[in-house]
Amino acid sequence: MNDCIFCKIVKDDVPCNKVYEDKDFLAFLDISPCSKGHTLIIPKKHFETILDTNDEILKDFIILIKKISKVIYEGLKCEGFNIIMNQFKASGQIVPHLHAHIIPRFSDDGLRAWPHKKYDSEDEEKEIQERITRLLK
Ligand code: 5GP
Ligand code: ZN
Repeated sequence: MNDCIFCKIVKDDVPCNKVYEDKDFLAFLDISPCSKGHTLIIPKKHFETILDTNDEILKDFIILIKKISKVIYEGLKCEGFNIIMNQFKASGQIVPHLHAHIIPRFSDDGLRAWPHKKYDSEDEEKEIQERITRLLK
C-alpha cells in the first residue's frame, strides 16, 4: 500500500528503531510509547486486520509475538505486558496495517485499560451469547 506508514517502514522509506526482522515480519519500537520498550510487530505484507490475513501468517505471527514478549518480559524485567491488537478504526486502530503492540507493564505504572460495563439485563446477555454461539456453528 503506497500511503501506508508501516509499508514505508518495511521498504526502509521511513526509519524505525528495529528490534527484529525476518522474511515475513518486522518488529520496531513504537514512536509514541505507552511505556519504555513498547514494541510493534507487523507482517511485512499489507493486511488491514486479522480478518483479511491468511491463517499461515497468523500462526507464525502469534508465535513471533510470544518470542518477542518473552524477551521483553525477561530482558526488560517488567512485571507483565499487554498484547494489544486494535482492529478497525472504531477500536482505536490508527494505522490500517495489521500490528500487535507489546506494552511492558509494572504494577504501579498507573496505565488504565478500558472500563468494564454491565449488560442491561440477563435476557440481553443470554441473547448475545446465543447469537454468537449460533454463528460459530
Ligand atoms: P494503532 O492505534 O493503529 O493500534 O497503533 C498504531 C501505533 O503506531 C501507535 O502506537 C503509533 O504511536 C505508532 N506509529 C505510528 N506511526 C509510526 C511511525 O512512523 N513509526 C513508529 N515507530 N511508530 C508509529
Ligand atoms: Zn501497509
